Amino acid sequence: MPLIVQKFGGTSVGSIERIKNVAKRIKRAVDSGNKVVVVSSAMSGETDRLINLTKEVSKKPDPREYDVVVSTGEQVAIGLLAIALKDLGVDAVSLTGWQVPIFTDNVYTKARIKKIGIRRINKELEKGRVVVVAGFQGITENRNITTLGRGGSDTTAVALATALNADFCEIYTDVKGVYTADPRIVPNAKKIPVISYEEMMEMASLGSKVMQIRSVEFAAKYGVKIHVRSTFSEEEGTWIQEENEEMEKVVVRGISHNLKESKITVVNVPDKPGIAAKLFKALGDANIVVDMIVQNVSHKGHTDISFTVEKTDADEAEEIAKEVAKEIGASAVERNDKIAKVSVVGLGMRTHSGTAGKMFNVLAKEGINIYAISTSEIKISCLIDEDKAEDAIRALHKEFIENGKIEIIEE
Ligand code: ADP
Ligand code: ASP
Ligand code: MG
Repeated sequence: MPLIVQKFGGTSVGSIERIKNVAKRIKRAVDSGNKVVVVSSAMSGETDRLINLTKEVSKKPDPREYDVVVSTGEQVAIGLLAIALKDLGVDAVSLTGWQVPIFTDNVYTKARIKKIGIRRINKELEKGRVVVVAGFQGITENRNITTLGRGGSDTTAVALATALNADFCEIYTDVKGVYTADPRIVPNAKKIPVISYEEMMEMASLGSKVMQIRSVEFAAKYGVKIHVRSTFSEEEGTWIQEENEEMEKVVVRGISHNLKESKITVVNVPDKPGIAAKLFKALGDANIVVDMIVQNVSHKGHTDISFTVEKTDADEAEEIAKEVAKEIGASAVERNDKIAKVSVVGLGMRTHSGTAGKMFNVLAKEGINIYAISTSEIKISCLIDEDKAEDAIRALHKEFIENGKIEIIEE
């Protein structure tokens, strides 16, 4: 009997009516002869509501207790879903992350899954039940509750599919698949039928939140085939899988954007060895992940260093930068929260040149200034002003996706 893991996101279980519809969808998979493990997110808006509650109590909520509060949304959703399934005559049982158990490290608010116990789930499946597991939550070896970071239910689903050796993992969401750009910003965005793990990892890490980055890393490592599709339609969605030769023919598979970073600039830094090391070591010691870094050409022995961090880390990063600035004799620290990173991603960049020049040209034609650039083998990212982001994404989509098809000939 095939085993499938089906994950439902927040919008999919966003109301009682939607939960009942999801139960019908699960029933169809059971009636077609599949064993089914379901992973559910919290009802839409619930995780945000819980996070806000912790912030109303404290400016800096204790991370252990934050996870205790924020993990509760999923428990409500799985209970309701199991009740709905039973009402349809489908035997079902809900399990929290710690009932499974899903063991994680002890990095509260962004824990990583380390071990999964499969005995309980397998026992329930043998009894012919649908097992409904809470996404996003885990437990440490010391039995403390953890959460897996925003969007973490995707990772729960892929990790369970790996542990249970499922045939594939279905990610049900509120769009029909992975698109060439966020369909909410680019109305002409097209659904991508098949995408490689590597491209999806880049897109997810560059801001396409349709899949949590860690879930794709997991899938790539263990070869789990993922089908991203809509809860509200029967249409085939996007398959995320191993790359094949065909895929390199597409230079730009998708355009991603991220509005969740801040830029910090340390101004007038003495240009001598060891200065950058001091700054970035201090940030690393505070567990702050730095994304882009730019150091300007020095002028009279002094230069500016700019870097970007997640907005949620920006207060702390600014404080650290100010301390280091004092120590090294820099003149000031500036911060800009209104920036955006736009990126083009595609396997074809490995074998086709000229993409960077084309991208800068598109942005120049739109009158958009570039503050920083970073590249990898299959992506180019530019940091720009936040209020120019939508224009940039639409213009890049037009250039690379709508007109940008390169004809491959046998010569
Ligand atoms: P869920 O609650 O189902 O996990 P998410 O909100 O996390 O759903 O992810 C789905 C959303 O991701 C879509 O509504 C869409 O706005 C956004 N998104 C961003 N980039 C893309 C993309 N390239 N393709 C599809 N969706 C995207
Ligand atoms: N409910 C969590 C969140 O909103 C996890 C998820 O939806 O995947 O981030
Ligand atoms: Mg999500």
